[in-house]
Amino acid sequence: MFQCPHCGAQALLIDIRTDRRSKKRIAQIRCGSCGLHYEMDLTDNPIADKAWVYGKFIDLYYAGEIKVEEAEEEEKEVEESEEGEEGGGLPEEEEW
Ligand SMILES: [Zn+2]
Repeated sequence: MFQCPHCGAQALLIDIRTDRRSKKRIAQIRCGSCGLHYEMDLTDNPIADKAWVYGKFIDLYYAGEIKVEEAEEEEKEVEESEEGEEGGGLPEEEEW
């Protein structure tokens, strides 16, 4: 774990993964304490490791390049469940 530049907690997790389909290499950075979240595209940086990502992240953070999205629960998720029926396997009776 790394130290979070936003809240100072040693709760910053960095996860590097490569998408098999798009061949994109993405670093996911998130803080388990304050909810800070950032994704970094490492596609052009195949040798970048977590320590490199952390250093770059700190640079970007102090340069003001990273917008901290703190976990606010004001906006509730809009329910997009227009498909009311469950299953949908059985055809409904049609009116002739
Ligand atoms: Zn934090």
